[in-house]
Amino acid sequence: MNIIFLGAPGAGKGTQAENVSREYGIPAISTGAIIREAIKNGTEMGLAARKFTESGALVPDDVVIGIIKERLAMDDCAKGFILDGFPRTVPQAEALDKMGVRIDAVVSIEVSDEDIVRRMSGRRVCDTCGASYHIEYKPSKDGKTCDADGTELTIRKDDKPEVVRSRLETYHETTEPLKAYYEKTGKLKLVIGQEEVADTTRLTFAALAEMKN
Ligand code: AMP
Ligand code: ZN
Repeated sequence: MNIIFLGAPGAGKGTQAENVSREYGIPAISTGAIIREAIKNGTEMGLAARKFTESGALVPDDVVIGIIKERLAMDDCAKGFILDGFPRTVPQAEALDKMGVRIDAVVSIEVSDEDIVRRMSGRRVCDTCGASYHIEYKPSKDGKTCDADGTELTIRKDDKPEVVRSRLETYHETTEPLKAYYEKTGKLKLVIGQEEVADTTRLTFAALAEMKN
């Protein structure tokens, strides 16, 4: 199954993408994680993307389309994949169509701006493996370091409140129109983000089960 997750930054699409990845045995592809990794490694792409990402702006379409083209060509995508954070603009969605990529389900996780701002302030990440935690909703075992590798958890530069507000604006203006784009194809499923992550997970699997048939 080829699945897209839509949703505002911090809506929990990354967490759900990971859940579905484990359950269905298909890779979850996060363009944000690929970009952060490239920035950390100081690659040419990372250097080009850095100023956009750290200020909360979108990286230019041609850069992320290139990332996705390369990633989807890898063997592990043959049985299906999950896109977490791509597409984020209508031209990116059109590029997927042009590549001949079939999409079976588009899950949009719906969370109010007010809740997003509250949630983002608690998000913590591991700079070593990219794992994402939340001080309230998904704490690591000791609350301070990564469960997988013991790295001290940090706040992402683009999770600072003023940057979050600008990312939300970008989401409403540029990414949310994708709901109408995929509504037309009959593939869109809205999932209302719940207070408890486990409840959102249940609703996500229910939505995907409907699209399988
Ligand atoms: P994320 O981890 O999905 O929140 O992505 C973090 C940042 O990476 C975003 O704020 C953008 O700067 C960049 N990014 C990730 N995916 C895309 C995309 N599909 N188009 C443009 N920029 C992206
Ligand atoms: Zn880690």
